[in-house]
Amino acid sequence: MSKQVVQPRIRGFISLTAHPDGCAANVREQVAAIRAAGLTGHIGVALVVGSSTGYGLSSALTTAFGYGAKTLGVCFEKEPSSDKTGTAGWYNLAEAHRLAAAEGLTFETINGDAFSDEVKEQVVEALRRLGPVDVVIYSLAAPRRKDPDGTVWTSTLKPIGAPYHGRAFDLRSEAVVEAELEPATDEEIEATTKVMGGEDWRYWVNMLRAEGLLAPGARTVAYSYIGPEVTAPIYRRGTIGAAKEHLERTGIQLNETLAQSGNGGGAWVSVNKSVVTQASSAIPAVPLYLSVAYKVMKELGLHEGTTEQIIRLFRDHIGPGKTPVLDAERRIRLDDLEMSEAVQQRVEAIWPTITTENLAETTDYAGYKADFQRLFGFGVDGVDYDAPTEVERPLA
Ligand code: NAD
Repeated sequence: MSKQVVQPRIRGFISLTAHPDGCAANVREQVAAIRAAGLTGHIGVALVVGSSTGYGLSSALTTAFGYGAKTLGVCFEKEPSSDKTGTAGWYNLAEAHRLAAAEGLTFETINGDAFSDEVKEQVVEALRRLGPVDVVIYSLAAPRRKDPDGTVWTSTLKPIGAPYHGRAFDLRSEAVVEAELEPATDEEIEATTKVMGGEDWRYWVNMLRAEGLLAPGARTVAYSYIGPEVTAPIYRRGTIGAAKEHLERTGIQLNETLAQSGNGGGAWVSVNKSVVTQASSAIPAVPLYLSVAYKVMKELGLHEGTTEQIIRLFRDHIGPGKTPVLDAERRIRLDDLEMSEAVQQRVEAIWPTITTENLAETTDYAGYKADFQRLFGFGVDGVDYDAPTEVERPLA
């Protein structure tokens, strides 16, 4: 056991430390919001791939604390040691495990590489004990994928076809800069699709089916993003967008496979709104866009984080007894408010006017930054950052 005073050590979009009490408080806040949503019905067993932070964490907390589901999560986090804090995702789950145990709920985690055969086998073993899954959420955001044969695929965030010249935000210097990105090669597009496309999701679902671990009527959802025109050259029309298109096509194919198997369930992709997470902070132009979108959406009373989005996903689309509402391309659209004309017209008007000097007035960069720090448990109300705290917290 080891008590430490934990200080933030943030470098650009990476934090080298995480505060256990701050992360725990964030999780308690999410659980309270999920409870307050008054979700109805019961889910038997849920599997969440990518369960420790962002959209996956909110999903796992919703299935467990909103629907009483035995929830099994898979994530890739660093355990704390006597001289180093664990990652934020580790502490998030430590608190989720603690809360679940106190309430007699089942909440388990397998910490390892979701792309590997070993982790998939561990999940199969765990589900033989917990029972077949009713809900599978696929929420991985990974920089690379190692295939069982040793091949490593690295995802890139690049435009396709033409270079990108445009605004971006340098998180280190907190300055608005002009970014230049060369277009991706075919190999880079393929590698990004391998990491962030639908192939691994399909492997998971087919494996569960083959092992008899998909309950009748099982539903599976993976998360996608479209976003505004200002980020389109590097997001939706870029390498990550190509991967997301693959994910969306995979959803349609998986749904057909499930229908043919007579399982009675379904597969969908949910297009979620942009939120501050570790993954989104790494995408050029997205932190700047988020700062503008935050300002506009807060002013219009439309602001949402991962918890509100995932509550909506279950309450309106995939929770017990619900029928998903789909767009013309068969996607659930939780980004409806973000993509509304009222929001996007204001974003487009503000975007060209932003400079480093007027950032505080033209955007809600302060809100973005506070949310970014909160991801790692810093700047959370009620936490005494001067007091030593136990960093070695188990996933009990
Ligand atoms: P995040 O970085 O908060 O979470 C990623 C999760 O994946 C973590 O639990 C992490 O431990 C896990 N993970 C990463 N590599 C892994 C591996 N090899 N094995 C096991 N687990 C691994 O990300 P997020 O922003 O919540 O993104 C989740 C999904 O939601 C992604 O598909 C993303 O594209 C999508 N999405 C995100 C946004 C956004 O604005 N953040 C918007 C719409 C959709």
